[in-house]
Amino acid sequence: MLNKVEHIGIAVKNIEASAKMYETLLGKPSYKTEVVESEGVSTLFFQIGESKIELLEATNPESPIAKFIEKRGEGIHHIAYDVSDIEAEIRRLKAEGFQLIHETPKSGADNKKIAFLHPKSTGGVLVELCQDK
Ligand code: ZN
Repeated sequence: MLNKVEHIGIAVKNIEASAKMYETLLGKPSYKTEVVESEGVSTLFFQIGESKIELLEATNPESPIAKFIEKRGEGIHHIAYDVSDIEAEIRRLKAEGFQLIHETPKSGADNKKIAFLHPKSTGGVLVELCQDK
């Protein structure tokens, strides 16, 4: 079972410019920035109620975020759901026929274990599962 929308990931070209816009939009500052070198992304988080907004900027041209922006432009990149047991959810969703990008969880931003589902099997939406470490 997925517990709640943990965050929404948004691909941006310039994280500083977007951070300013989001600070104005949401009426509050971001609480955290983090570079995830293994993913080729710089991230920046806003807490908004129980959920978060994660801005994602590519750190190199091979980054999945760079490729996403090249193809589709800036915008919503993924929806992340909080789970209590990521290994169990991966097994459950795989058994249900969903296509996993990661069959074993990896280390993500914000102190999480994460795994992505392929948008081919989720109606075009990149889905992230995340569990607090
Ligand atoms: Zn995310």
